[in-house]
Amino acid sequence: MTKDRQHIDTSAITAGRNGARGLSADIATSTVWSSSGLDNTHDEIVHGRRGTAYSRYTNPTVRLFEEAIAELEGADDALAFGSGMGALASVVFALCSPGDHIVAQQQLYGGSLAFLAGPVQRMGIKVTFVDATKPGAFVEAAKTPRTMLVIAETPANPSLALADLDEVGSIGAPFTLVDSTFATPVCQQPLRHGVNIVLHSATKGIGGHNDALIGVIAAETDVIDAIWGYSVLHGAAASPYDAHNALRGVRTLAVRQQRQCSTAHELADWFTAANGCAAVHYPGLASHPQHGLANKQMTGFGSMLAVELEGGTVSCRAFIDALRLARPATSLGGPETLVCHPASSTHFGLDPETLASSAAADGLLRISVGLENPQDLIADFASALSAVRAS
Ligand SMILES: *Cc1c(COP(=O)(O)O)cnc(C)c1O
Repeated sequence: MTKDRQHIDTSAITAGRNGARGLSADIATSTVWSSSGLDNTHDEIVHGRRGTAYSRYTNPTVRLFEEAIAELEGADDALAFGSGMGALASVVFALCSPGDHIVAQQQLYGGSLAFLAGPVQRMGIKVTFVDATKPGAFVEAAKTPRTMLVIAETPANPSLALADLDEVGSIGAPFTLVDSTFATPVCQQPLRHGVNIVLHSATKGIGGHNDALIGVIAAETDVIDAIWGYSVLHGAAASPYDAHNALRGVRTLAVRQQRQCSTAHELADWFTAANGCAAVHYPGLASHPQHGLANKQMTGFGSMLAVELEGGTVSCRAFIDALRLARPATSLGGPETLVCHPASSTHFGLDPETLASSAAADGLLRISVGLENPQDLIADFASALSAVRAS
C-alpha cells in the first residue's frame, strides 16, 4: 500500500501544497461555503470530504496538512482531528461495536490507557492489554473471532518499550493501528510494515512548536473514508489554525528530528555514566533490551528518553526543582527540552496495576529533548543530579 517516493527530507518541503503559489498555507477561516443552488449544495454534501460545504466535513487548510502527512507516511490518504485523543476515539468508535474485542499494548500514553480502560469498555467493547515487549503477545491475543482492532504504540510513552511493527503488521485483525507519535514519520513508517493505520498526536513532534493541538491518522483510502463517515458525527474536527501551524512544523520536521535525535542519544550516553541514575531507556542504546528491533524498524531513535533516578519520587522532585534550562512540562517534541514525572502527571490516576504495567515507575523521568545545545543541557542535568545527591 505504500508508494515509492522521494526522500522524506524533501517531501517535508514539497508535500501538502496543492499547487498553491503562496509558500505559507492560507488559513481558510470559513466554517461554511455558499453554493450555486440546491443541486450544488447537494453535491458538495454528498461528496463530503471531497467537497467544500462545511468545515467539520472538510477544510482546505486541514486538507493540505492531511495531504502532507499521507505523503510522509507513504499512505493513500490521511485524516486530521482536533487532538491525538480525538483521533483515537474516532477510530475506535468508527470501527468497533459492542461485543467487539480490542487488543491493546499495556505500555501506552496515559490518556489512551484511561480511554481504553474506561469509556471503551463501558460501551461494551472488550479490551485485552498485552506486553508489547513479549514476542507473539499481540498475535496470540488477537486470535478471538471478535477481535476488531489491535492498538500498539512504539516507542511507548513513557517507557520507550518497542512493539515489533512486522508482528503487528502481520495480524489480519481486521484493523491494526500504531501510535507513532514518539517516532514521527522521520524515524519510522509503520505502514511499510503492513500496519493498517498510523496515528500521531501531531501536537507533539510533527507540529513541533507547542502551538497546535491536532491529531492525524494515515491509511488506505477505504479505511480513511469509513472513519471519516463516523468522525463527522463524533465532531473532533481539526482547526484550520492548528493545521496551518502543524503544516509549518512539517517543513522543518526532518532537520528538527535529526538534531533532537542526536542530542537525545548524547544525553542517553551521558546519563548512562552519571552518578545517581539507576537506568536509562533509549532505543538507540545498546543496553536497550530491544535495541536490535530498534535498528531493524527505526531510521532514527527519536527525541525521547527516560531515566530512572535512585530514590524514587523524592529524587525526581529534587531533580526537577534544580533544573535551570530544561522545563518541567508534560508535552513533547517541541524546541524546548521538557522533563516530566509520568507517575504523578501523564499517568496519574491510573490504578496501581495499570500504572505498573505501563512502566511509569516512581523514579522514572521522561525527557523530551529539544533544540538547545547538548553541552548546555548536560550542564543543567549534571547540576540537577548534584542537587539530588545533596538533598
Ligand atoms: C500526547 C499523546 C497522545 C494524545 O494526543 P493529544 O494531541 O494530546 O490529544 C496520544 N499518544 C501519544 C503517544 C501522546 O504522546
